[in-house]
Amino acid sequence: MTTIFDKILSGEMPCDEVFSDNKCLAFKDITPQAPTHILIIPRKPIPSLQDIKKEDQELLGHLLLKGTEIANDAGLESWRTIINTGEEAGQTVFHLHIHIIGGRKLSWPPG
Ligand code: AMP
Repeated sequence: MTTIFDKILSGEMPCDEVFSDNKCLAFKDITPQAPTHILIIPRKPIPSLQDIKKEDQELLGHLLLKGTEIANDAGLESWRTIINTGEEAGQTVFHLHIHIIGGRKLSWPPG
């Protein structure tokens, strides 16, 4: 199924790009939940963490490493890394994505 993020990856839809390489794209969330809210998505069309395979291990590590670089570049000392998996957990776009959220005090537990 084609998602909004596939359209962003193909250039069919615009995004506010933060970082790009041959494995992933990072861009600002269109509805930010904090002063910094960036999404990192793999170029590979993986719907969710439910669908990852052993062969994705390096890619997943790459996304997390980039997340830390992006958070540091955004000047964050504290941030939250979120991957919603499945509708009940709040996933609305079924192309795997990592939220990097920071720039304000974040409460716990999440809703
Ligand atoms: P999730 O609810 O975990 O699936 O997260 C999907 C996120 O994508 C939400 O935070 C949305 O605000 C964000 N989003 C949806 N459409 C766009 C878009 N066109 N550009 C940037 N972020 C988007």
